[in-house]
Amino acid sequence: MAYKIDTENCVACGACIEACPEGAVLEKDSVYSITADKCIDCASCETACPNGAISVA
Ligand code: SF4
Ligand code: SF4
Repeated sequence: MAYKIDTENCVACGACIEACPEGAVLEKDSVYSITADKCIDCASCETACPNGAISVA
């Protein structure tokens, strides 16, 4: 499994960074991404995202 952020649906709210217990979500120039190596598939970010932008690829 791997959680991914659909950048087209991302509104750059930052909730996923707050929600991730592993520091796996990165933001650069308002583009959010998940570092697969750090992700433990806990789904906290998916739950926190207000726009349904995060899902398991
Ligand atoms: S699934 Fe969990 S560990 Fe992976 S990026 Fe989302 S909040 Fe972080
Ligand atoms: S929680 Fe969702 S909308 Fe907010 S920054 Fe993360 S991916 Fe984007």
